[in-house]
Amino acid sequence: MTDTTNRSLFERARKVIPGGVNSPVRAFGSVGGDPYFVERAEGAYVWDVEGNRYIDYVQSYGASILGHAHPRVVAAVSGAAAKGTTYGKPTESEVRLAEELVERVDGLEMVRLVSSGTEAAMSAVRLARGVTGRDKVVKFAGNYHGHSDSLLAAGGSGVANQGLSGSVGVTAGAVADTVVAPYNVVPEIDDSVACVIVEPVAANMGLVPPVEGFLEALRTACNRADALLVFDEVITGYRLERGGATGRFGVQPDVWCFGKVIGGGLPVGAFGGSSDIMAGLAPLGPVYQAGTLSGNPLATAAGLAVLAELDAAAYGRLTATATHLAEGLRTVFTAAGVAAVVPQVGPLVGLFFGEVVPRDYDEARTSVELGLYAAFFRAMLAEGVALAPGPYEVIFPSLAHSAADIDATLAAAAKAATALADP
Ligand SMILES: *Cc1c(COP(=O)(O)O)cnc(C)c1O
Repeated sequence: MTDTTNRSLFERARKVIPGGVNSPVRAFGSVGGDPYFVERAEGAYVWDVEGNRYIDYVQSYGASILGHAHPRVVAAVSGAAAKGTTYGKPTESEVRLAEELVERVDGLEMVRLVSSGTEAAMSAVRLARGVTGRDKVVKFAGNYHGHSDSLLAAGGSGVANQGLSGSVGVTAGAVADTVVAPYNVVPEIDDSVACVIVEPVAANMGLVPPVEGFLEALRTACNRADALLVFDEVITGYRLERGGATGRFGVQPDVWCFGKVIGGGLPVGAFGGSSDIMAGLAPLGPVYQAGTLSGNPLATAAGLAVLAELDAAAYGRLTATATHLAEGLRTVFTAAGVAAVVPQVGPLVGLFFGEVVPRDYDEARTSVELGLYAAFFRAMLAEGVALAPGPYEVIFPSLAHSAADIDATLAAAAKAATALADP
């Protein structure tokens, strides 16, 4: 029996998968309506099981920077699959991916590959605690570092959509050493702090750029306290530019976390740092970390295929596409008389209703509480444009989005904004 409607699939899904989804934001809880079930995707587009086509700005939350089903990625993955999907033994492909990753980022000397951004951030914190011998971790409200226990507090992204400050099931003990500070303000850092973990451009509470000097001052404050600075570059890494946020802002952390882009749409993450710090990891050092599928041959093949496409021209094109979209959206909202701001950092675009670009989580929430995103999202979806089903996500144009796709998106946005202004 085949089900061909989104509604019937969602009903079946809810019987066997909690909420019908394998990641909460996909359930459309904060935008209303039923989620569409994807049948296939290619380039800038996804098609649902009912045959509707959407211009996709989710792109698996940025994992598909080349667009969906890029022919070189498909070929790399199928070529690798034919040689075996996992061995639990080292391969040349993981060495090559590690070489490509460290080559692009100043100060990054070694990486350990894992299977998700969550694992990367969780392991980075363990490593920081292990090498400093300290317990405390400072994180910023509205920054998201995956769903490991100690990092969920005041997480952005889906945690924010759920309206949870963290999660039931996370013990007080698990977060006792987590300190949450407001973004864009340098917190107090003393000698009990193992590390400060930060999204160098916050992209899980909408898009909140770092204020001038924030990252530099954070670096200085960490140095003063001998605490490690961890950049969670799971979104920004290899996306903002070749050298990620490190390259863009010229500030080097001690430890980096990566994910999304580097797996070309397969499950991958990585964390890394200087050879000295990474020597803390087993088997060289006492900090344990492991993974059955770590360095998986399909994922490394996909990651290598993606990085091979990301030359200077590609970053230039991607940023030009983002600029076209951001400037167009501003024009559309102004014309419709809808108060909205559209921040942009390189290839990343944000959207907040209201008059000001938020500087922190409280200000981002104030925008979200205006309650306009859901209606805008639904109107865009009806016009064939798929934004993320939550107000705390960002807009991910890919290299597959053409100028015509952006123009079509802006035409849809003009209709959606007019409807918002005059409901
Ligand atoms: C997506 C994300 C993560 C978590 O990555 P997963 O692969 O979903 O576990 C961590 N940090 C940041 C900044 C992210 O955007």
